[in-house]
This record gives sequence, structure tokens and C-alpha cells, in this order.
Amino acid sequence: MADLSFFDGGALVSVLTTEPLGRALDYRAPEGGCFLGAFVEVPLGPRRVLGVVWGAGEGGYDLAKVRPVTRVLDAAPMSEAMRAFLVRVADYTLTPMPAMLRLATRAPGLADPPGPRRVYRKGWAEPDRMTEARGRVLDVLDEYGGAAFTLGELAGLAGVSSGVVKGLVKQGAVAEEEAPRDLPYPSLDPDLQGKALADDQAAAAGRLCAGIRAGRYGTTLLKGVTGSGKTEVYLEAVAECLRAGRQALVLLPEIALTAEFLTRVEARFGAMPGEWHSGVTQTERRRLWRMAGEGGVGLVVGARSALFLPFRDLGLIVVDEEHDTSYKQEDGVLYNARDMAVLRASFCDAQVVLASATPCLETWANAEAGKYARIDLTSRFGVAEMPELMAVDMRAEALEPNRWIGPTLVRAVTARIAAGEQALLFLNRRGYAPVTICRACGHQIGCEHCDARMVEHRFLKRLVCHQCGETKPMPAACPSCGVEGRLAPVGPGVERLAEEVAERIPEARVAVLSSDLFGSARALKEKIAEIAGGGADIIIGTQLVAKGHNFPLLTLVGVIDADLGLQGSDLRAAERTFQLMRQVSGRAGRGARPGVAMLQTCQPDHAVIRAILSGDEEAFWQAEAGERQAAGMPPYGRLAGIVLSSPDVQTVFDFGAELARRDAPLRRIGAQVFGPAPAPVARVRGRHRVRLLVKAAKGVALQAALAEWVGQLRVPNNLRLAIDIDPQSF
Ligand code: ADP
Ligand code: ZN
Repeated sequence: MADLSFFDGGALVSVLTTEPLGRALDYRAPEGGCFLGAFVEVPLGPRRVLGVVWGAGEGGYDLAKVRPVTRVLDAAPMSEAMRAFLVRVADYTLTPMPAMLRLATRAPGLADPPGPRRVYRKGWAEPDRMTEARGRVLDVLDEYGGAAFTLGELAGLAGVSSGVVKGLVKQGAVAEEEAPRDLPYPSLDPDLQGKALADDQAAAAGRLCAGIRAGRYGTTLLKGVTGSGKTEVYLEAVAECLRAGRQALVLLPEIALTAEFLTRVEARFGAMPGEWHSGVTQTERRRLWRMAGEGGVGLVVGARSALFLPFRDLGLIVVDEEHDTSYKQEDGVLYNARDMAVLRASFCDAQVVLASATPCLETWANAEAGKYARIDLTSRFGVAEMPELMAVDMRAEALEPNRWIGPTLVRAVTARIAAGEQALLFLNRRGYAPVTICRACGHQIGCEHCDARMVEHRFLKRLVCHQCGETKPMPAACPSCGVEGRLAPVGPGVERLAEEVAERIPEARVAVLSSDLFGSARALKEKIAEIAGGGADIIIGTQLVAKGHNFPLLTLVGVIDADLGLQGSDLRAAERTFQLMRQVSGRAGRGARPGVAMLQTCQPDHAVIRAILSGDEEAFWQAEAGERQAAGMPPYGRLAGIVLSSPDVQTVFDFGAELARRDAPLRRIGAQVFGPAPAPVARVRGRHRVRLLVKAAKGVALQAALAEWVGQLRVPNNLRLAIDIDPQSF
């Protein structure tokens, strides 16, 4: 709830701004006064900047010099719980407050003066003459349905000048109208149309609802196999939250999943929730941001940054597919949305539901330790059965060179297609081939800016660096020895696999699902719907397909290389592979027909592969947990990564070595420093990267020690230092 501390006009207030000053500044409250937490515009030197009234002013200096707040913005004041949350995230992630505040004020047009605005939407007429620029404007309007844009937004999205839009207005092809201030979202009806739940589902929903009714903080791991009805169950918790008059937030790891989810919400509650992710228009984002603060939206569905919306009264946060690595923000403020969701809920007496078929080890351990409640849904809803899992020993399969689908898998796929069913071939590699090698000199084509190989993308007809995005055409001659015509692809990507399928199973209709093949979230969404409707026989996909999509005709999953993720030294490799294989296998047999998952592997006796096949998850987690515990690794110990980067290789190594030498503040808390060592990708975008890893026991004041440690050295101008608490890979 917004608290009602009010400052009268002229009172001294302390304002925290989004400018990197490091501390709050004093101002005088404006004439009409302002609430604690109010969003304001204040003068800073010659500029006006965005800020939040953070408390009473400090005083103790020449009060005559204190300038007044320029104006109070048209937005509900930030709640006390939200302010406390931001401070805690800042402390936890060692992020300066202004950066936190920027994260929490990502509302385009927040500083626009209130009152009616002009907005633009699709008109009623066709333009007299079509130009390319005009076409782009109309495309944008088509793509976003009936949405309205400000002039700047529409021109910006279409990449045209505002004159082009104005021209279309004159012709009636674009309608210009006065829009009122942002409107609340239609309210959702929690009692509209719940499905009749199965017994175990009803029991699970009952427990979650009881937590909501208690109105206290609590976190529950909702663990259930894919298709067990986790979504149905947590929608009941959303309903209970709405009944209690509070707001709910559902975080999804992937924009492409949102469409299906929105449809389900609409069917259940009779209206659409608010939507927050990178594909949402600026107008809609501003509206949602405001309405979150005013309580004008009951349910928000969004990507991780939705966690920083200024909800008025948040009662429930669902983190769906909680194990998903995309919940970790990897630049700017480095936070894990799953962990921060738990933190946020603890500040506002909300419940958290972490839903997954394959929870991450941290969450499993927290449930084990009794910090989180745990609910298990062990069977698929209705007639659907869990798929049968089997290994295909690739050492015994006869394969020609440059072929990756063994005869066993080919036979299985062919049989499924003949029966009118679908097969999914999973390979977690985008593009045509991961390596391009010169057969004359052995040179492998690399990126000029990164320590990475260029990946051939035949569909794009280019080589692409997956680190920095740089692309270049495939050269005719080797860049190293100059010999022509000897460059050859090595290894498969999904595009090359599609080629193999076309040659060996020519009768099949093939769809490739890889993020780089779709220009927009909408195009991907459409493709997924088409496939779900039977528009393809074989789906070839990267990990994009592992996430929650429902293909009822899909009965066979073939994993091309189950060993792929087990290579490398990352301690999480086993956990990741286990999760990914189970997620992918879970795509099979979600409809009435039973499914099979075949894992092509050269090491069928590997402990992880055996664990996947046996399906004995608890045994797997226990074994993993034992290893982590013995090594003092998360979740039984704590880690922080320090990433240093600079265009100058000497600078990063020298600075890293100096940091490592001055480890007294860390030793005082019993922490150890490892490194500096080259980061997993040692050069990205021309910057050399070095990593130090700090390992500490649980329960020590790690952040304070890190701050003191890093604070000993002045960071040179050409060096960037990022602190990553709880790094994803170690
Ligand atoms: P999960 O989130 O665990 O993968 P879902 O909630 O998506 O599972 O459920 C899988 C499928 O089964 C969905 O199509 C869903 O509509 C259906 N389903 C689950 N529970 C019920 C129920 N009680 N009544 C009708 N359909 C259900
Ligand atoms: Zn690159």
C-alpha cells in the first residue's frame, strides 16, 4: 500500500535521482506539497532529471540555496515496500541506487506532461500512392493490431520521419486522435470459468490459495512433470489473489510463450492481463507501468524486468519454468529474477510460486531445507502418459560422414510420420555448421572482435559471431592461406540437420525452429501455432522448443547429441543437461498418443545419461547436492564473479593480479579468490575479459567484504569491472 507521509509545500525533502551521483539531494517540496515516494522532476545543474522523494531532507547547510522540486509527475508514489526492495537489491547485487531506480522507472513518457495526448492508430482509407516508407508505417500498425502510438513511437518503430505519418493522416490511412490519460485494464473475473481440477491438482491449488488467504510471505516449489497442470493450478492461486483484491504477477522466461498463456488467461478470467516485455509498444508499457502503481491492473504477465514494476499491492508472484537461465539478467544490474522475486515477496507479504518440471538445484535444496514448501504433481493430466526414454548407442550405429541421424532414429521418425504423427529432432546449435575450416591449411574462421569461431548461417548466407552478432559473407578464399574453394563446414547446426532430413526422409514436411530464423516474436508465434495444428511432420529445433510449447501430435523426440552439454568444465553441466533432456523429452506425447524420447549418445553409461533414462530425479539431485556440498559450492557455499574487461590485454591481467594480491578483506571473512583467469569467452567485441571467482561460506558478510576489496583500487578508465553475485556458471 502507498503510505501516506506527506510533505507540505516548501518542506525539505531528500530526492534520489536516476543520475549517477551516488546519493540523494535535498530539494524543497513543490507548492502543493508531495507524498513520500512521489516521482518528481528536479533541477540538477542546468538540467531536469527524474527522481523519487526518498525521505525528509537532511538540512545542515545554507537552506537558501535549496532549489524546489520542478514538478510532481503523474504517477502513484512508490510504496514503502518497493523502496525497501530496491535498497535490498542494490545492496545484494552491489549496484548503485541510481541504476536501481533506472530499472524501476522504465516507463517511456513518464516525464511527459499529464493531460490528453495525440495518438495514432490505423485509419479507414488506403493511401493514394504507396511508398516504401508509408508501407512500413502501415506494417507497424498491422503488426500491433489496434494499438495506438504517439507520433514519435510510430515514426520510430517504422523508421520513418514524422512527416510520413502526418502525410498518411491527411489521407485517412492513419487516424489521429486525442487520447485520454492512460486507462485501467479491464478487470479479470476470478470466478468465471475454472476447469474442474483433478484430485491432486485441487489439493495443490488448495494449498496455494490458503497461503494467499493468510496474507503472509511464503514460497512454494510447484514441481510437476510437463503436462501435469501446473499452469491450471497456479491460475487458481491467481484467482484467489484477485479475490483478495491484490495484484498478481506471472513471470515467463520466453516471449514466445506469452501468446498461449494470454489465451488461457482470457479463457479463465474473461479478459486480458497486462503484458510487459520487449515486444510491447511504448504506449502500452507506459500504461502498464502507471496502472501497476495505481492498482489499475490485476494481473501482469511479463519478462523478468516486470519484477521492478511499482505494484501498488502485489500478493502473488509466479515464476514459471523457474530453472530457466534467462531469468538471470546478464548485463547492467546483474540479478536473478527468481531470487529477487522471493526477496520482493518478503517485503510485501506476498506468496511466491516457483513452477517447474526440473527445478534448479538451489530451489530443490531450499525445499529440502524447509525454506520453501513443496508440492508435487506426479502424473500428466488426463490420458497423457510420460514418454518412454531410451538411449541410442552411437558407437554401434552405422553413420556415413557428415550424417548425424543414426539409422535407428531414422526408422523411428519414418514410422511416426507414416502414422500421421510428428517428430522433433533436437540439436542445441543454431546455424548451419559451428565451424568452418580451410582444408588446405587447417585455419578456422574466427571473429575479428571475439575469441570465438564464426558460425555459418546458410539461410542468411553469412557467417555470424554468436558472441557479438558480427556477420560477414562466406569468403571464397581462406583468409589465412588464400587458397580458394577449400573452405568446408564442420559439424552440424539445425540448418544442416534440415538438409540431412530432406535427403534421407524426402517425403517429410520440415519446420526449423531456431530463434535467428524469425524476425519477430509474432512470426515465431505464428509458426508455432501452424506446427501445433499439424503443419509439419518433423520439427528441427534448438532449445527454443524445450520451453513449454504444446504440440499435441508430437510423439517422438530425437536428441541428436545428448553428450553436447556434458563437455566443458562448468560445474553446472550435469544439472543443465539433466534439465534440458527432461524438458525436451517432455515435449513428446502430450496429447492422447504416448510418446518416446530417443537420446543419441556415445556414453550411455555416463552417470547423467543414466539418471535421465532412469527418471530417478531425487537420486540425481541427492548425488549432485552431495558433490556441491563437498566442494563448498552453491547452494551450500556462495560465489561471486568479478569480470574485468578492457581493450588492452595487459591492463585487465595486471588489474586482476593486483586485486587477487590484495585479498585481505576477503580473507577476513574466510573467503578465497581464484584467478585471474581468462573468462569462458576471453575476448568479446574487442574487449579482453578476465574473471576472478570468490568463494565464501554461507552466512558471511560477502557483499561488504567485496565492496571493501574492490574499493582498494582505482579502476582505470579503459577498464570495466562488473560484480556478479551468484554467477550462473562456475
Ligand atoms: P503444465 O503447466 O504442468 O505443463 P498445463 O497446465 O499446461 O500443464 O496442462 C497441460 C494440459 O492439460 C493443458 O492443455 C491443460 O489445459 C490441460 N489440463 C490440465 N489440467 C486440466 C483440468 N483439470 N481440466 C482440463 N484440462 C486440464
Ligand atoms: Zn564477435
